[in-house]
Amino acid sequence: MTDASTGFDADAFVLRSEAVTPGGVNSPVRAWNGVGGHPVPLASAKGAYVTDAAGRTYVDMVCSWGAAIVGHAHPLVVEAVQRAAERGLSFGASTEAEISLAEEIRARYSPAQRVRLVSTGTEATMTAVRLARGATGRDLVVKFAGCYHGHSDGLLVAAGSGLATSGVPDSGGVTAAIAAQTIVLPYGDDAALTDAFAEHGARIAAVITEAAPSNMGVIEPPLGFHELIASLCRNEGAVFILDEVLTGFRAGPAGYWGVERDAAIARGVEPWVPDLVTFGKVIGGGLPVAALAGRADLMEQLAPLGNVYQAGTLSGNPVAVAAGRATMSLLDDGLYRNLAELSDQMVDRVSGALTDAGVSHAVGRAGTLASFFLGLDATPRDFDEVSRQDTAGYATLFHSMRDSGIYLPPSAFEAWFLSAAHTPVDIDRVGDAVGAWAAANR
Ligand SMILES: *Cc1c(COP(=O)(O)O)cnc(C)c1O
Repeated sequence: MTDASTGFDADAFVLRSEAVTPGGVNSPVRAWNGVGGHPVPLASAKGAYVTDAAGRTYVDMVCSWGAAIVGHAHPLVVEAVQRAAERGLSFGASTEAEISLAEEIRARYSPAQRVRLVSTGTEATMTAVRLARGATGRDLVVKFAGCYHGHSDGLLVAAGSGLATSGVPDSGGVTAAIAAQTIVLPYGDDAALTDAFAEHGARIAAVITEAAPSNMGVIEPPLGFHELIASLCRNEGAVFILDEVLTGFRAGPAGYWGVERDAAIARGVEPWVPDLVTFGKVIGGGLPVAALAGRADLMEQLAPLGNVYQAGTLSGNPVAVAAGRATMSLLDDGLYRNLAELSDQMVDRVSGALTDAGVSHAVGRAGTLASFFLGLDATPRDFDEVSRQDTAGYATLFHSMRDSGIYLPPSAFEAWFLSAAHTPVDIDRVGDAVGAWAAANR
């Protein structure tokens, strides 16, 4: 069908894209396999809105999977990128700007004593695991079902995100030998974790977890879970890797770790501290920047100081770093207060609309992050419980919301992302659109 005003032919685009690119997409989370239909390509984005190639504009609830925290094409960020581009796109040598970004990350997030910039979250977690193995001389890694840590082989076992959406438990191409080095446990299960250490303690190099799971929908970490990971790792000589690629500088000013640190201080308890942390998404503000950070003595085992190798032609790329620095410069207390208020309002309006129409649902929340699980009557705690949600219901919600001008994640297993450019009026539109769908579906 050809759009009258833009001349965009959606059917022709599907054929064209699928003829040259597997599934028509460069990342499976962009496909609409979980909701049905074919993605309409986006053409531009500004503030809280995205516009597709057919010329329709939507309130954006994806925000580049969290990266667009200050809204799309923020003038300060665009200007910083333009200025950096004029000075050269890539040098393959150090710049002062990349050191400034690393200092900025450390200033906000104290466990990040040393910071190594990379280009993707996948590289950050992959390198963190390699560093943990190098530092401990051990082979096993513990991860939790439904947590996504990027697509390196050993971390693709029982991962969430696109694998959850497409119902694929594990990726093909991951050898049995590699999968055997990953121990997968149910999320938040203290006993399973303690048992795993009792059985394999001397072989466990690392425990990796999302700071707050957000790639199977949002799950609030149970009280004491991270303290337990930290103490088991400390006592057994393993490395605690906290994956803040999504939550970092989004769930709160110091990521989800900061949320728990502040809560611990308020309770008069010593806060737990991760050994290694990974960042991505927000720290690049929409360009490819990610980071591996953590304890100085561990981080200094990376090359060129130590014998754990890691490298990248585009690591600390000056244009990407400019976007990250400009974005970070906008992240102040006021912005986080605003995000928290918008998040509260979204939960009130969406959950209220569903409740009014008698649609059973649960809400997952962690810091400023939130997601909605249709068909559940209790807040899910792990991947098994999340998997019982009504994904067919979500598919009809997704399309109904699109018709109402709201662009939701094309999967029931994702957070609904907000930016500082969203306003209460946008959230009202989201609430009204959910209400319209719920009224038609009760
Ligand atoms: C997005 C994400 C990754 C992977 O980052 P990429 O930049 O897509 O490689 C890793 N961990 C978490 C928690 C993520 O949300």
